[in-house]
Amino acid sequence: MSVNYKELKKDRSLEWREELRNSISAKERVKGVRVKMSENSPEVRATNFFEVNNGISPEEALLEAKRCLDCPTPTCISGCPVNINIPGFIKQIEKGDMAMAAIVLKSTNALPAICGRVCPQETQCEERCIYNKLGQPPVAIGNLERFTADTERLSGKMSIPEVGEPNNIKVAVVGSGPSGLTTAGELAKYGYDVTIFEALHEYGGVLVYGIPEFRLPKEIMRVEIENLKKMGVKFVNNFIVGRTVSFEDLKAEGFKAFFIGSGAGLPKFMNIPGENLINIFSSNEYLTRVNLMKAFKFPEYDTPIVRGKNVVVVGGGNTAMDSVRTAKRLGADRAMIVYRRSEAEMPARVEEIHHAKEEGVEFLNLNNPIEYIGDETGRVKQINIQKMELGEPDDSGRRRPRPISGSEYLLDVDVVVVGIGTAPNPLIQQALPELEFTAWGTVVVNDNMQSVSRPDIFAGGDIVRGGATVILAMGDGKIAAESMHKYIQNL
Ligand code: FAD
Ligand code: SF4
Repeated sequence: MSVNYKELKKDRSLEWREELRNSISAKERVKGVRVKMSENSPEVRATNFFEVNNGISPEEALLEAKRCLDCPTPTCISGCPVNINIPGFIKQIEKGDMAMAAIVLKSTNALPAICGRVCPQETQCEERCIYNKLGQPPVAIGNLERFTADTERLSGKMSIPEVGEPNNIKVAVVGSGPSGLTTAGELAKYGYDVTIFEALHEYGGVLVYGIPEFRLPKEIMRVEIENLKKMGVKFVNNFIVGRTVSFEDLKAEGFKAFFIGSGAGLPKFMNIPGENLINIFSSNEYLTRVNLMKAFKFPEYDTPIVRGKNVVVVGGGNTAMDSVRTAKRLGADRAMIVYRRSEAEMPARVEEIHHAKEEGVEFLNLNNPIEYIGDETGRVKQINIQKMELGEPDDSGRRRPRPISGSEYLLDVDVVVVGIGTAPNPLIQQALPELEFTAWGTVVVNDNMQSVSRPDIFAGGDIVRGGATVILAMGDGKIAAESMHKYIQNL
């Protein structure tokens, strides 16, 4: 089914909404209990790579949808970076029209099955839900989003956005992560001849090489790529723009404008003694080996991975949680997080921290590695760790960790994974020295996601923000596509 999402009218005024609102009193709705999504048991799931969350049933979705009060001024919408009409799609679930629920959802979010799974809802849409003020858990917006998208996908009748009349104008998208995919989809709707160039052999960016199967099954990404192909978007893999060919080569081939969504795939290290020892990995390498190259199935797949018994992952974000839970699944007896602040400051999604704990991950918070010690073969065998305490808030608003002198101790390890953050790969900077970059290597763009120094270049996602989130990358892609359209129309 092809749908013109732009023509969808806001449906808040429809009579049926009023009827639904009156069908159950607000008092009754508030009495509803937030539906908990079923999960595989921690003991079993920590030994395999199957998805942890099982989704909710149609009956549970209806119960949860009935909790939504359809507030006259819904505050949840402003909590979502792409302003999904949240009560709009939830009321369609309550009405029983799942196809329309998906259409309402996808009119603002091209990848709801992904966002429903990985968005940090607790700090976005769900944080603004009115239920918080009533002292009750918010409506499970993310779970309902996932349910709606999964129901549509599994029905085999996915709606695809209507594409514009082909205008034969070529535009290039660099990188197939969420920002690039969103930009490409939006540009196809205008009728552009869009090509996505991807450095890796699989499309999806971090969604396929970083986030593990147990959180985001790859099949979901594959379906989305197929849908973009049906919209006419062309995909070229194993192609590094700036290395395989230059931007100028592509320009000479007729590409009128470029969207750079190349992400922030360069791992950061702490630069402490011993960090080059064998069996110390970056999270990127560790997760890419396991997720993209299927090292967990070695030797069936060619890529090996070191299966440590005592594994330390350094960091407190989603990348660190994904790495430590992966280590557990690879057979670690002790899978440990070493994080220099306390749990309250951890940037990871609350659910990931909770799941990691359930799976037996140990949290050494307020601990910081200061040196790695190797054995006679050059492999890491111990970490010298210093304990920390929290001081005043720093620029990020989080309390600054301070070392406690004399608190150092040695911890035995055989694998270390460093997941303390990433930065943009310098390749784009080398390929386009005329672009303006920040000191952190991110591209400087205006509010339209257009480079401030070269008008045919647009950028968004992590290459602009540093390591951020999927939904922010998608929001950038949407803005960029509209700006690219305006730019090309005025050429
Ligand atoms: P990316 O997803 O990084 O994609 C960039 C793509 O560009 C890559 O495929 C890369 O190969 C390609 N590329 C790079 N250079 C070139 C080139 N020169 N030519 C061609 N192709 C190129 N966010 C959440 O919201 N929730 C989460 O739970 C979450 N978990 C995460 C877990 C991990 C392990 C990581 C690493 C990140 C996580 N994030 C999460 C962050 C989120 O995934 C990113 O913010 C998001 O993917 C950024 O999207 P992007 O499109 O900017 O880039
Ligand atoms: Fe919430 Fe993310 Fe969905 Fe927006 S996209 S409604 S923030 S889960």
